Amino acid sequence: MTRKYIFVTGGVLSGLGKGVTSASIGLLLKSMGYEVTAIKIDPYVNVDAGTMNPYMHGEVFVTEDGGETDLDIGHYERFLSTNLSKKNNITTGKVYQSVIEKERRGDYLGQTVQIIPHVTDEIKREIRDVAAEQGAEIVIIEIGGTVGDIEGLPFLEAARQMRLEEGLENTLFIHVVLVPKLSTTGELKTKPAQHSVQELRRIGIQPDILVARSTEPLTKEAKRKLALYSNVPEEAIFSNYDVDLIYEVPLILKEQGLHSLISKRLKIGYREPDLGKWIEFINKLKRARKHVTIAMIGKYTRLRDSYLSIVEALKHASAHFSVKPKLKWIEAEEVEKGIIKAGEVLEGVDGAIVLPGFGVRGAEGKIMLIKELREREIPAMGICFGLQLMVVEFARNVLGLEKANTTEVDPNTPHPVVDLLSMQRGVIYKGGTMRLGTLPIRLVKGTKAYEIYGKKDIIYERHRHRYQVNPKYIDKFSECGFIVSGYSEEGFPEIMELKGSKFYLGIQAHPEFKSRPLQPAPLFIGFIKALKER
Ligand code: GLN
Repeated sequence: MTRKYIFVTGGVLSGLGKGVTSASIGLLLKSMGYEVTAIKIDPYVNVDAGTMNPYMHGEVFVTEDGGETDLDIGHYERFLSTNLSKKNNITTGKVYQSVIEKERRGDYLGQTVQIIPHVTDEIKREIRDVAAEQGAEIVIIEIGGTVGDIEGLPFLEAARQMRLEEGLENTLFIHVVLVPKLSTTGELKTKPAQHSVQELRRIGIQPDILVARSTEPLTKEAKRKLALYSNVPEEAIFSNYDVDLIYEVPLILKEQGLHSLISKRLKIGYREPDLGKWIEFINKLKRARKHVTIAMIGKYTRLRDSYLSIVEALKHASAHFSVKPKLKWIEAEEVEKGIIKAGEVLEGVDGAIVLPGFGVRGAEGKIMLIKELREREIPAMGICFGLQLMVVEFARNVLGLEKANTTEVDPNTPHPVVDLLSMQRGVIYKGGTMRLGTLPIRLVKGTKAYEIYGKKDIIYERHRHRYQVNPKYIDKFSECGFIVSGYSEEGFPEIMELKGSKFYLGIQAHPEFKSRPLQPAPLFIGFIKALKER
């Protein structure tokens, strides 16, 4: 089969859920039996998302091969149930980096290097290379941002050229637009969407399909108007209205026949998508009567997308036990400042996640909350910085090492129980230089972690850190019951757990990145199990 390219663009405003729409289309096509991959294009000039604050960009998602990518890659991995590469996230920074490298090498000798054709050629090459490498029959390419953004223009131009080069039946343009509802009249307004289609046409792209995001299903009238003004037949307009769970989006699009229209337009054989297990997963979560309340202890809690994969991993594991997770967000800085009290805020929670993070802000607040969790035997999982601060708390309050700290927070601490990784010394560049990606963890027999991971000696999890638990203190910790249950290849602690506890465990890696709806991450299963039994 000739490879097919589906471009997903967005209009009116960003944050519409283009990522979930793209992932949902991917799932539908994959369940029809096709090999599907997905690419996210981020038109910003950063080379990758690794240097951005979560408040700017949401969570930084980490791939197997150590890419620090956009969170949409996480949606794709979860919906497609596959591992993607850092190459699946293309940015302006990456494209220019490679064009400039080629220019310096002399690849364009004698030429003036321009956006068209050199930059657009590079974009097309990167898209085609990823698709070929991953053996995809269908490639979904989501172009981030909104039509009309200056940064996005070269990418849209490349997409336009690809239609010409690949042919009409091998390319498809899907435009995702917002259709807001006026609160005064209750009317669905299509004008902003019409304008955004016009803008796309001005660039040379006539969308084949429109996906309208709205709070409620599109009315007949709204559909008719959109069709008329956008030059898109009514049968190619789909309503992506608000649902409780993002995992329901593929179902509402399927119900309207998006998958069969795509198969017609791309001239690929129709096969009935098999979504039985997916639906079962959704039902388990939606019908669950028992709630578990989970405290989410972090410092970017104002933007929930900062911890997206963890929130999703909690849903996956909860569905496994037919319980519903209720999240209680706790901003550690408020505890630190005394605005809320550690003892009070944890009242009534069944368990807690001490979230990943960086830097000084909120660290002391987290430590105060960790002390409560440990003393009150509330099931708790520390992830990355969460583990590191569990270690600091234990050193201070159990080992009596009063000013113990991580050198990230206090470079002059007399007890550096968490310290910079030795291979990080001398690292100056901040971009892409952390200890990144999938690395082996050697589990210790007889520990809770060993049980939870199904008695495997070696497991693999994804990493993103510069600091580590200082191996010099391992003996002191284990004498007091805080034992190491997993080691890195270099011999530093990767997983630690409180001996005999129901679940008090920290991990240096990020198990959330490998969690899938139908394949929850083992540690999250262990965590929810402990909460449920409490
Ligand atoms: N700041 C810590 C480190 O660099 C933890 C990072 C994280 O939580 N991802 O080691």
